[in-house]
Amino acid sequence: MRRRLFAPEIFVCRLALVSSVFLFVGSSARPADPIPDRLVVLTFDDSALSHYTVAAPLLRDYGFGATFFITEGFDFRTNKQDYMTWEQIAELHRMGFEIGNHTRDHVGINDAAVPRLAEQLDGINEQCRKHGIPQPVTFAWPANATSEKAFAGLRQKGIVFARRGGTPEYPYDKGRGFAYEPGRDHSLLVPSAGDARPDWTMQDLIRAVSQAKDGRVAVLQFHGVPDTAHSWVNSPQQQFEAYMKYLSLNDYTVIALRDLRKYVSIEDDPADPQKIIRERQTAVRNNAAHERAAPKNGVRDQADGTTAVKAK
Ligand SMILES: [Zn+2]
Repeated sequence: MRRRLFAPEIFVCRLALVSSVFLFVGSSARPADPIPDRLVVLTFDDSALSHYTVAAPLLRDYGFGATFFITEGFDFRTNKQDYMTWEQIAELHRMGFEIGNHTRDHVGINDAAVPRLAEQLDGINEQCRKHGIPQPVTFAWPANATSEKAFAGLRQKGIVFARRGGTPEYPYDKGRGFAYEPGRDHSLLVPSAGDARPDWTMQDLIRAVSQAKDGRVAVLQFHGVPDTAHSWVNSPQQQFEAYMKYLSLNDYTVIALRDLRKYVSIEDDPADPQKIIRERQTAVRNNAAHERAAPKNGVRDQADGTTAVKAK
């Protein structure tokens, strides 16, 4: 008779240990896979009802992954015309999508708000626990605030990746941004390559996702499709459908933010997370100056926004 190597309860303990180690340092194990070109991370903010009614069924048809960043901010608790219920959020999880943490009250986490971070994360974690959703391992910074002082608190709660917007490299208004460059961007300051706006066209989407090459990942940020509560970040449904069709027809791989653990090691995070941001800000300023000086001289907006940085 074969000897049992582990009593079942010991095995369970080992599993728990392995999974908790994975939660905290999982992405520091050397990932096996190189980052493919045309890799897109799809993210949705602010718990809009249309995430459940419009976006999720469409994404399922395409076989796309996505992260839904949940907050109970705004009037989430009382307004179910515009925001999902927790049951619907749990259904997104059961459909295979990722549920991420966007703070309980949609609090901008700047230096002054760092003391509130733990309770803000716990508020969402607790609701996830109640509704059978795994504790989120990704976070989206609300309201375009960020703070390096929050990094330790994020890691303490098991956050592996935190996504920001396209600022400060680009102004907020057009929803532009740079692709995520693991090793140069910090995993807790993952930039949005595009943050969809009501007046976005297909060109804006292409500008964002065409950066997904040479080890860079295009992270896209959407709000409601449509967004019935936040008109300034609305994406009309037809437009969104056209974007998803484009990604499918052009062979993009579309995944949730958590799935980057397969490709990215947090061991490679830069010592100075602001360095790449400063370099890009310089490049954006230089490009703008070139455009003003020689608008007819073949100098144009860098489609992928990176050439000027790489040429240094
Ligand atoms: Zn938000």
